[in-house]
Amino acid sequence: MVVAIDGPAGAGKSTVARATARALDFTYLDSGAMYRTAALAYLERGGRPAERAAEIEIELGERVLANGRDVTEAIRRPEVSEAASQIAVEKGVRAALVAKQRELLDRGDWVAEGRDIGTVVAPDAALKIFLTASPEARARRRALELGADWRTVLRDQALRDEQDRSREQSPLRAAADAIELDSTDRAVEDVVGQIVALVRDARRGSLPTPAGPG
Ligand code: C5P
Repeated sequence: MVVAIDGPAGAGKSTVARATARALDFTYLDSGAMYRTAALAYLERGGRPAERAAEIEIELGERVLANGRDVTEAIRRPEVSEAASQIAVEKGVRAALVAKQRELLDRGDWVAEGRDIGTVVAPDAALKIFLTASPEARARRRALELGADWRTVLRDQALRDEQDRSREQSPLRAAADAIELDSTDRAVEDVVGQIVALVRDARRGSLPTPAGPG
């Protein structure tokens, strides 16, 4: 089964999705890492973003490999974040990466995080979560990770949010059947516990109803 966790940057998706996958013994899919890897290839080699996205071989796990090269740290640089958000507006880029994501999600149990997992990549996901937090909380979390000033992060974040929400191709939005969770004043374990309980409910709901006696 697929658990989709979508939402804006800094809402705590990665931490929550990773911990949820661990708790359930599911595999974690970081779709943002794919956009970042394609963006890095585009920054380094130029050409057309959609071609870079289609040709690149991406391996996700403890480390992120692009055509066998370890790019785990490189894809987290601020200029790569910006480029990822820019190339993500292109239809060809999305088509190439969505195809790779669907191929992975086709078999097994996954917690997949991104912006369009519940709306586009896996519209039949057994459970869809849309994770949010206040802009200030999100900026403070990312500033801590990056060792940057939170007001600067807040400005960049507003720009990226706007790009993600207003783009024509797969804009960031909650699926109609997504459950919205606000992580602003909540501990990670608390949010993860709630999602794990929702997965258990979804699993029970998807089991065939046992035949009654007689
Ligand atoms: O999640 P993360 O911040 O690593 O994603 C980097 C960028 O990739 C996002 O700002 C967004 O523009 C894009 N993205 C996307 N669709 C996804 C995941 C990421 O457009 N499913």
